[in-house]
Amino acid sequence: MDKFVVIMYHKLLSSGEGTRINHDKYAVSDRTFKRHLETIAGKYKAVPLEGLASGPVEKDYLGHVGITFDDGNASDYEIAYPLLEERRIPATFFINTANIGKEGYLDWSRIRKMSRCGMAIGSHGHEHIRLTSMDRQKVKHQLSVSKRIIEDKVGAEAKSISSPYGAWNPDIAQAAFDAGYGLFCTSGNRPNRFGDTILHRCAIYGNTSDRTLSGLIETRNSIFLWRAFRGALISIPKTILRK
Ligand SMILES: [Zn+2]
Repeated sequence: MDKFVVIMYHKLLSSGEGTRINHDKYAVSDRTFKRHLETIAGKYKAVPLEGLASGPVEKDYLGHVGITFDDGNASDYEIAYPLLEERRIPATFFINTANIGKEGYLDWSRIRKMSRCGMAIGSHGHEHIRLTSMDRQKVKHQLSVSKRIIEDKVGAEAKSISSPYGAWNPDIAQAAFDAGYGLFCTSGNRPNRFGDTILHRCAIYGNTSDRTLSGLIETRNSIFLWRAFRGALISIPKTILRK
């Protein structure tokens, strides 16, 4: 395995909530998440992304997996954090600083506790908006305000950022590096190679099986081809509708 795969979770659901009534394809049940962690702990090694914050993907990261969460949902603390902590598995949580303390989201005391216990806190922008739809000044504002707030409230450096909706281009990645972030994460559904400076992440869905998870981490071509094919199929009607 000569690649480094980073996986991306969003909201987790507790057993009581049930996935049947939830229409969010990204929402993963606590049972599924627990099984994923057992798979990772049994067969692979989870490594902290922040170890790469001063440069490109290093050789000793290849073959391993990075775990991330987007959006700063309350389930990051209520479900993910205890299960990760119990197994000593590191993860990075990307938060929108404007949403902290709102219903359904993390609050600062929980974020500080997660940070003190070794979890990394990164930015997902100040608000959850597409950075590609803004002018340069506004992008700069989203990147720098969120970094400053995290560092003030948490007392630890915000080394990494993930772009909301996975919307990015090389100018935005450069603006993130200029704002002082060492790591820029996309949702590009691709494994990363030695020397890469931008980290692509693979989405985990509510129906992602243990087998698919293993296939992603082992960078099995069939899984990535299928994902690319499905992505292309979904984008066809969108393209037609835009015309
Ligand atoms: Zn998001």
